[in-house]
Amino acid sequence: MIATVTDPPFSTGLTRWACTLPQHISPSAAKSYLGCSLKFYFERVACIKKNTPVALHLGKAVHAALQAFHIARWRGGDDSPDAIAAAYEKSFTDIERDEGPVNFDDEAEREKARLDGLRVVAAYLDSPEAMKGKPRAVEVLLKENIPGLSVPLTGAMDLVEGNFTPVDFKSAAAKPDPGNAAFDHEIQLVSYQLLMEIATGQVPPSLDLVFLVKTKTPQVIRVSSPPADEHRKRRVVAMLETAVQGIAAHRYNPQPGMQCSWCQYKNECMAWLPADMQTNRRAA
Ligand code: SF4
Repeated sequence: MIATVTDPPFSTGLTRWACTLPQHISPSAAKSYLGCSLKFYFERVACIKKNTPVALHLGKAVHAALQAFHIARWRGGDDSPDAIAAAYEKSFTDIERDEGPVNFDDEAEREKARLDGLRVVAAYLDSPEAMKGKPRAVEVLLKENIPGLSVPLTGAMDLVEGNFTPVDFKSAAAKPDPGNAAFDHEIQLVSYQLLMEIATGQVPPSLDLVFLVKTKTPQVIRVSSPPADEHRKRRVVAMLETAVQGIAAHRYNPQPGMQCSWCQYKNECMAWLPADMQTNRRAA
């Protein structure tokens, strides 16, 4: 049972609750919560708006271009390189307008990012990984009740191939190590399998990531991992449930680590104190 919205367990003096506790959990929310619950709070509960990092903006525009390509393959639309490049350019501009501002230092950095994205999209279309046949589905949104999870699991799969393989596309600055990549994305990959099995009754033959690497000469690298056995599934459900229970109990605290290097909430983090210490400070 999920609690209703109450006062936060602490105050940064910046923002009060802007969202509600989850009625469902997604793999990205769970990964974010487990990575640093306080950053999760700033980002997804208090919804403190920050400029979009350049890499995130670029990744979203590239993702939109690939989505346009896959939808064209699926529905018999225009999947020519020119049409997909135009979809990329439109997304690059639209996302900046709708979700920006983006952390560009200047116009030169913006232009470099725009061209980097164009090269990455062209590399994908030229690669053996570009969808040749007809996908089974594109941008699949699923929401299912999963045994062991106290709220429904949601997930948005970029692409489902004809043989039921879910594929997720990732923009990356450097070539991924296949073993680490599959481990890093275990919550997402296994969540997709759980959703797919319940929604379709099919066990996917593999769980795939396609990395679009923004090196000088862009690379397109597929990392496939086998479908999860019962142990992996139980482990991922336990991680998802840990996040749900933590959010429901308002457990948000700093978890310092490598992720702090690129965290945009350092000032808010420095202001954090647990609720009981906030009270003591006010009383002092
Ligand atoms: S600075 Fe580090 S510990 Fe603080 S909110 Fe960000 S990721 Fe978490």
